[in-house]
Amino acid sequence: MANAQQRPVYRFAPTPNGRLHLGHAYSALINAQSAERFGGRLLLRMEDLDRSRCKPAYEMAAIEDLAWLGLTFEPSIRRQSEHPADYEAAYRDLEAQGLLYPCFCAKSEIEKASAAAGLGHDPDGAPLYPGTCRARRIEAPQGAARALRLDMARALARAPRELFWREFGEGERERLQRADPAAWGDIALKRRGAAATYHVAVVVDDALQGVTDAMRGRDLFAATSLHRLLQELLKLPAPRYRHHRLVLDAKGEKMSKSASSTPLVRLRQEGVSAADIRAALGFAPAPAQPRLAVRLS
Ligand code: GLU
Repeated sequence: MANAQQRPVYRFAPTPNGRLHLGHAYSALINAQSAERFGGRLLLRMEDLDRSRCKPAYEMAAIEDLAWLGLTFEPSIRRQSEHPADYEAAYRDLEAQGLLYPCFCAKSEIEKASAAAGLGHDPDGAPLYPGTCRARRIEAPQGAARALRLDMARALARAPRELFWREFGEGERERLQRADPAAWGDIALKRRGAAATYHVAVVVDDALQGVTDAMRGRDLFAATSLHRLLQELLKLPAPRYRHHRLVLDAKGEKMSKSASSTPLVRLRQEGVSAADIRAALGFAPAPAQPRLAVRLS
């Protein structure tokens, strides 16, 4: 019997800014399946840092949807909005290493300067930052800047020359994946008015919660390069990564809250059962007459 320390720790970490859809169901179910298979723990984390878009009502609805799917998480939920001091400590650490600088540029200025310099885009599609404020190094009171940016060149110089992560996909075969954090350029790691950005919060939380297996959608594959760099800079442990397939909508695009993805609650109201959803997503044998057809990437 594995002792407590060796038990793998999985987490499902939705952003409660809308109702859960089939993409969330797939992620939650595959985390639960893995935790069960390997005798692991299953945590629920609410990534609710964006206070303007995340609502307690969505959190409650997500909990209800997950229970309806038949999933049981450990009862204590970590809400990112309740832990600003944990993220603040990470920012102080990066700042003490001289790796952050304040940025005053407006989005439109960045777009123009980045295009003029022919810099291209980061993996999320944002224009790479041209370094305007890095060159200025303006001393400004805390909070006056629009953002704190990572000095990528300095950060890379502090990290091992080659960075990797352990990638398993949905299987059990491990592959060493080379990280490419430079692709993110001088990314904004903190924005005015927000306790943290996703990238900082996720590495801090995974470490504090003892997550051993970060199982999440392939849409976050490229972000893992940046997460590995942050883990090195902040001396945080790196979990195993298991990037899973994505559920596609009718147009063959990734499901997202903004697109025309049917929320689970609507399917439920239309008479679709949790068993139908499990079957459609491949977690139970398909019935002779499936109620739902789903495509995975
Ligand atoms: N909160 C993110 C989302 O809803 C997931 C982040 C993660 O699993 O690392 O897409």
